[in-house]
Amino acid sequence: MSGKVYLVGSGPGGLGLLTRRAQDVIDRAEVVLYDQLPGEEILAALPETAEKIDCGKFGGRHTLEQAEIEALMVDRAQLGKRVVRLKGGDPFLFGRGGEEIETLHRAGIEVVMVPGVTSALAVPASVGIPVTHRKYASQVTILTGHEDPTKPAPALDWKLLAQSRGTIVILMGVANLPKIADALMRNGKPGSTPVAIIERGLRTDRRVTTGPLSRIGVLAHEHGVKPPAVIVIGDVVNLYDPTRPDLIPVELP
Ligand code: SAH
Repeated sequence: MSGKVYLVGSGPGGLGLLTRRAQDVIDRAEVVLYDQLPGEEILAALPETAEKIDCGKFGGRHTLEQAEIEALMVDRAQLGKRVVRLKGGDPFLFGRGGEEIETLHRAGIEVVMVPGVTSALAVPASVGIPVTHRKYASQVTILTGHEDPTKPAPALDWKLLAQSRGTIVILMGVANLPKIADALMRNGKPGSTPVAIIERGLRTDRRVTTGPLSRIGVLAHEHGVKPPAVIVIGDVVNLYDPTRPDLIPVELP
């Protein structure tokens, strides 16, 4: 007898943006492996009867290594359990969902994927920034800021990114922001390009810092910006109006 693993995206935080299918699957879970990113509201509502495993790979502080997490999923599924692997946002966008599925398939375990609302789109949206707009951006590139652009063979093509006229959305970019801004400017992106950093999007304590690319590293440092944050670079940032209420309020009005 073999169980199943449900790879579930929690959305960007809060029960309101969890899909109905995700809720259904969570309610019937016998084992839940989770990170902190889904947020308190969702984690507090996990079924009492389920075995809950905190994988806590938050902000780079691993409490469980990726291989250990995968081994646990395989083990519980082989015991015939209904296993939920719960991830922030969408499991396939910088969530290592692809790797986990490969491991599970290799072990002969059936996987069911439940996509989630990604923070890459919802966090900018929550402060009124649409990542595309007919007047300002016809393309958007989502990238990980985890890659150090100054290392010898950078994984990202900074020249191409600097020259693209679309929006750039960066996840996991807080630590490398000064280097990222430099790499973009060195490759030709104007220092005047507007940037927004949205910390703790869709939470009651979210904060937005805006400024030109040339100063954003310094501003982030001065404001003590911390992860998790989504960074948006491009003309759509000018649509942010700090006097307007959240476009995706935590509580529906
Ligand atoms: N799979 C996730 C992303 C995982 S990478 C998704 O689709 O949303 C983790 C990064 O996501 C964080 O470093 C941060 O850049 C971003 N992030 C996730 N939730 C966030 C939130 N509520 N507020 C700000 N950034 C968030």
